[in-house]
Amino acid sequence: MANNQDRRPLIAGNWKMNTTIDQGLALAKDIVKTITPTKADVVLCPPFTHITEVGKIVADTDIEVGAQNMFYEESGAYTGEISAEMLISIGCNYVIIGHSERREIFKETNEDVNKKLHAALKAGLKPIVAVGETLEEREQNKTEDKIKNQVTKALVGIESLENIVFAYEPIWAIGTGKTATPEQANDVNRYIRAILGSLYSPDQAKYTRIIYGGSVNPENADILMNEPDIDGALVGGACLKCEHFAQIINSASSG
Ligand code: PEP
Repeated sequence: MANNQDRRPLIAGNWKMNTTIDQGLALAKDIVKTITPTKADVVLCPPFTHITEVGKIVADTDIEVGAQNMFYEESGAYTGEISAEMLISIGCNYVIIGHSERREIFKETNEDVNKKLHAALKAGLKPIVAVGETLEEREQNKTEDKIKNQVTKALVGIESLENIVFAYEPIWAIGTGKTATPEQANDVNRYIRAILGSLYSPDQAKYTRIIYGGSVNPENADILMNEPDIDGALVGGACLKCEHFAQIINSASSG
């Protein structure tokens, strides 16, 4: 986020279902050695199994830890699920909610996303809410409809935007090597900000971080991060290579 002093850039690495514990801890150690965050907030979102140990590795740094998902209930008979309180209890600060892989593969609905958002905020997590359109929706000029629907439904009953981050992640750009152009990404981020402004207030919208995700890499990070409405990146593939992740963070820090 190069052009706005009000929103500190956020770079979140989504490790997805990658790395064994040994590989993950080695990556986290490399990241700690390589990265000295200055102007960007940096969050690592490893698999659940790694969070506690990664948390210990980053403990004396400015790097924070997040989760890739959570369930909205507080406790009970929900085999295989993890609650927001559990994440807080192992030192998580952030949680990704509504990633397109959760929506597409695990059939999460906008209502699920909304319940998760309530639960995350109640527990004290900072949610990164992911929204984005398919290629078909973009080609049919339905991008804005899809985004508006996802953003509006995610926020039902949410009183304030404080602590919420949005991530615009066009599904056609995730893990495909196809990045949205800086203009495409900025247009949608600006649109999200306009929706937030109309649902809450222009001031709340102005202070909300809206990041971009979808094949962000060291080559394209600079130009994406230079756009006025792009406040950082949600990084998948490139965050598994320490030097690539570090270069992306430098792009966000250089504005
Ligand atoms: C993601 O997982 O949110 C993502 C954007 O992945 P990639 O950077 O690999 O496209």
